[in-house]
Amino acid sequence: RRSSEPAVEELYTGVLAGDRGLLARAITLVESNAEQHFQKAQNLLQRLLQHSGKSLRIGITGVPGAGKSTFIETFGTYLCDQGYRVAVLAIDPSSSISGGSILGDKTRMELLARNPRAFIRPSPSAGKLGGVHRKTREAMLICEAAGFDVILVETVGVGQSEVIIRDMVDFFLLLVLTGAGDELQGMKKGIMELADALIVHKADGANKQKAEQTRKEYNRILHFLQPATKGWSTKAYTCSSLNGDGIEGIWEVLKSFERNGKETGVFEDRRKGQKREWIYSMITDQLQYSFFHHPEVRLMLPQLENEVMSGEKTVASAVEKLFHAFLSGKE
Ligand code: GDP
Repeated sequence: RRSSEPAVEELYTGVLAGDRGLLARAITLVESNAEQHFQKAQNLLQRLLQHSGKSLRIGITGVPGAGKSTFIETFGTYLCDQGYRVAVLAIDPSSSISGGSILGDKTRMELLARNPRAFIRPSPSAGKLGGVHRKTREAMLICEAAGFDVILVETVGVGQSEVIIRDMVDFFLLLVLTGAGDELQGMKKGIMELADALIVHKADGANKQKAEQTRKEYNRILHFLQPATKGWSTKAYTCSSLNGDGIEGIWEVLKSFERNGKETGVFEDRRKGQKREWIYSMITDQLQYSFFHHPEVRLMLPQLENEVMSGEKTVASAVEKLFHAFLSGKE
C-alpha cells in the first residue's frame, strides 16, 4: 500500500484543484494515527495554510433526534443550489472513547452526499498526536484550501463537544425542539450561551404553532443571557427541514452575522483567538499523550494507583513521582 500513497506535492496540487479523491486522501493523512504520517501531514498543511481561511465556518449541535442530519441535508442542499460549495465535517465525541459512533454511518444525508458541490466527511477517531478536534481543524483547513465556501461542523450535544466546536467555528447553531416550559428551564444555560442562534426545529404540520410558541419562550430566556458573540444578539428562529420553511431566513441571519462581524472586526478577532487557543490545546494533547505513553510512567502507574487507593500514599506524592520519572527519564 505504501507505493500508492500520494506524495505531498500531489496532494497539494490535487486539493487546490478541488480533486475530491485527493482531498479525501489528504484528510485521511491528517487523520492518521501513524507517527510516520504526522510530519508529512504537517508539511502539507503548512503549504495549504495560505489558501485557507476564506470560508464561513458553522457549527451545528443538538441532542440526538433534534434533526441535525436532516437539517444539514436541507440547508446544505439549499446552499449548493445558491451556487456555494459546502463541506460537512463531524465531531463524534463517542469515537474518542469507544471507537464507536453515535452520529451513525454514512447513509445519512444521502442527497447532499450525491451533490457535486458538497463534500461529506464522517468523524475521525481520536488517537495519539491529538484528539478529534485537531483532526477536524486540520480537515477544515484542507477543505478551505479546496475552495469550499461553507464548512458545516456537526456534533452531538454531549459532554465537552460543544465547547470544542465553539472554539473552531465562526457561528454556532443550536437545534432544539418544541417543549414545555419546564424543558426549556432544564436546558443548560451554558450551552445556550455558546450559541449564536437557536433553531426550534421541525416547525411543520401540527407542530408549527407550538414551535412558534417555543421560539418566543426561548427569546425571553435569551434576553437575559450573555450573547456568545460581542455585538450580536442570539435569537431563536423556527424552521422545518422537511418542507424547507425558514431555511432561507437562517442563511440571511448567517450572512448578516458575517457582515456585522467583519465590519466590527469581531469576526477576525475570534479567528485569531481560536488560533491562539489551538496552540494550547495541541500542547495539552501532546503532553498528555507523551506522558501516558512514557515507558516508566506506564510501568509505575498501576502500582501507584494501588498505593493511593489503599491509603498508603497521597495523590500529590504519587503524581510527583510520576512526573519525576517523566521528566528525568528517556523518551
Ligand atoms: P439527528 O439525530 O439530530 O441527526 O436527527 P435526524 O436528522 O436523524 O432526525 C431525527 C428524526 O426527525 C428523523 O425521523 C427525521 O425524519 C425527523 N425530522 C428531521 N427534521 C425534521 C423536520 O424538519 N420536521 C419533521 N417533522 N421531522 C423532522
